[in-house]
Amino acid sequence: MSRLVVVSNRVSMPTERGAKAGGLAVALAEAMTPGSLWFGWSGKRGATSSDQATVIDHGGLTYATVDLSESDYRRFYVGFSNGSLWPLLHYRTGLLDFKRDDYEGYLTVNDLFADRLVPLLRPDDTIWIHDYQLLTMADALRRRGVKNRIGFFLHIPFVPPAVLHVLPSAAVLVRALAAADLVGFQTHGDRMNFLESVASCMDVHPDDNHSFTHNGHRTETIVAPIGIDADGFARTARRAAGMAETKRLIESLVGRALAIGVDRLDYTKGLPQRFDAFGQLLHRHPEHLRRISLLQIAARSREDVDRYQSLRRELDRKAGDINGAYSDFDWTPLRYMTRTVNRNTIAGFYRLARIALVTPLRDGMNLVAKEFIAAQDSSDPGVLVLSRFAGAAEEMTEALIVNPYDADAVADAMHAALIMPLEERKARHAALLAKVRRTTAASFCRDFLARLKAIEIDA
Ligand code: ADP
Repeated sequence: MSRLVVVSNRVSMPTERGAKAGGLAVALAEAMTPGSLWFGWSGKRGATSSDQATVIDHGGLTYATVDLSESDYRRFYVGFSNGSLWPLLHYRTGLLDFKRDDYEGYLTVNDLFADRLVPLLRPDDTIWIHDYQLLTMADALRRRGVKNRIGFFLHIPFVPPAVLHVLPSAAVLVRALAAADLVGFQTHGDRMNFLESVASCMDVHPDDNHSFTHNGHRTETIVAPIGIDADGFARTARRAAGMAETKRLIESLVGRALAIGVDRLDYTKGLPQRFDAFGQLLHRHPEHLRRISLLQIAARSREDVDRYQSLRRELDRKAGDINGAYSDFDWTPLRYMTRTVNRNTIAGFYRLARIALVTPLRDGMNLVAKEFIAAQDSSDPGVLVLSRFAGAAEEMTEALIVNPYDADAVADAMHAALIMPLEERKARHAALLAKVRRTTAASFCRDFLARLKAIEIDA
């Protein structure tokens, strides 16, 4: 049987102290059958990048990691991945901080990953590369003679050609991606944008199957939305009802409705706009004054990128403005915390909430939307207010879909959620839950790998 080799920017070793199961680790657990190999960066920065991978066997899986030099880390990860690709692929061309040196560092690290992986490969391995940090790795492997099946999945959005070409090296990246046998996206929109970019960069047009052939190599594409283990998360949320944190939150609300937001502190998540919308709700619908609190949990993220520090200052100020304007001596409208909260605790908080605000300006999928739906009590469910620009909105059409740039519209959606009759809440929740249970982390891995393994390759 062919072995699965997963490649991702960051590998969290099970032996690492304080290692947390990241989103990707949870999603891929289903695919990682005994014997699989997981390859990527160790998270360690040293004087030089590793000249060979460190290989550890643990729990039936093999983990192979490389360290990066400080300079490689800065150029590849902080500079090009998070300073250029992340804003670009989230349509934020104004935030692009392109430097040719960073771009060259990105290509160097993708090549380095390929160099360190090649000696570990067997001829019948199936290789699955993940995300925007590794756009050129499939091509780097091909240049080293690797003939194996290679799949690539992009967890974040893909942009139309007009946006893509803002990045000086865009065509190189698109051509490099085409070296994979299968390229996967979260939504139909993202795949369409990619195929239009292929047409624009390579003058190659897709067939009826959304596949294309260039220099004799055929590249297939797939839409495979990522999801969560909905039933497992629902159990966690039910159990959380008995936790001390849940009880403390209930007591602190003294009967008021809870609205909740849970995000990484990232400019793609639309947090300033969300705070403005909450301010508009209190301003335009004063019947909710003293009757609702918004709990925004925002985990600090990428603090070595300047733009994230200025976002944090902006949110501190906005939170202060809203609470200064609307608080009462015994009521704080906005509770804002900038840290991570335990996943079990969050599950219990979701279940208590009457509204979830998932209002990114652009997002690959957004798993918070799915977690919130899975966590609800179906006899008295809360309402999801969801940005039309989250990948999740392509499927989760029974949410209250909003444009996050329109503070009044988001305020109106919150108002509609607060006065929504029980029957309508139940009907919307039932429809959404059925979808969240259908497209799971397991189905994502299964669908992608089944398609990849069905591809004929000439070995
Ligand atoms: P992204 O991958 O861009 O961070 P997603 O919504 O797809 O966005 O996934 C975020 C994951 O991280 C979810 O599982 C969510 O529960 C978790 N998460 C987000 N913010 C926090 C936080 N402040 N504390 C703990 N977990 C968080």
